[in-house]
Amino acid sequence: MELLRNLKNAMAEILFPPLCLSCQNYLGSQERDSSICRSCQSKIIVHTSLFCSVCRARLPENKKICHKNSGYLLGAATDYSGPIVNLIHHYKYERWTRLLDPLKKVLHSYLDNLSAGGFDFKKFIIVPIPLHKNREQSRGFNQAEHLAQIIAYRYQVSIIDGLTREKETQIQAKLKNWEDRKKNLEKAFLAANPEMLSGKNILLVDDVYTSGSTINEASEKLKSIGAKKIVALVIAKTK
Ligand SMILES: [Zn+2]
Ligand SMILES: [Zn+2]
Repeated sequence: MELLRNLKNAMAEILFPPLCLSCQNYLGSQERDSSICRSCQSKIIVHTSLFCSVCRARLPENKKICHKNSGYLLGAATDYSGPIVNLIHHYKYERWTRLLDPLKKVLHSYLDNLSAGGFDFKKFIIVPIPLHKNREQSRGFNQAEHLAQIIAYRYQVSIIDGLTREKETQIQAKLKNWEDRKKNLEKAFLAANPEMLSGKNILLVDDVYTSGSTINEASEKLKSIGAKKIVALVIAKTK
């Protein structure tokens, strides 16, 4: 059986050699696990600091220096451009969960950078941005949950499903204007375990940060139940 399976895999690789998802070049045998080639992976520039959630300025010391009244700081492993766009898209919408590996690499280097800069993950608990249960059922997973697990595992911090999504909102990426996006999310989140979050520092985890309206809404909800400091953490942000 084993022999047959190996033979089948070998045939499949000859007939359909795997291509890099980003540049479409053939993948070398060492690269096949990650779905993108080393050259594309190296084009993903990993950030070293947190950002202002209002103007997206880099905060070299990971402290607010410009918009002091912003509700939270933003952590983004990279910018939403180049190979990462395809990776996230295929992982999320085409359910290529094996793409979690290259995404994990990017996230790990960013977490290490933050940690080296003095960011203490142990002072936080993690809350993933939830999907509405119908959407999670049809996708088969919640991407924010996957990313939250990666962070929790690396730093031994707990994940609390602190928010639920009662309203079935439209996919934010399909709504072009800011007003529509904000409206779409109004009262979208409910606090699920308020007593466990009150007075706590929270890492609010999602995959992508574009207009910021999803995280704004979730962060306001968490603030309203007494959360202390909030840092939103995503794989990629738009500039
Ligand atoms: Zn490539
Ligand atoms: Zn700012």
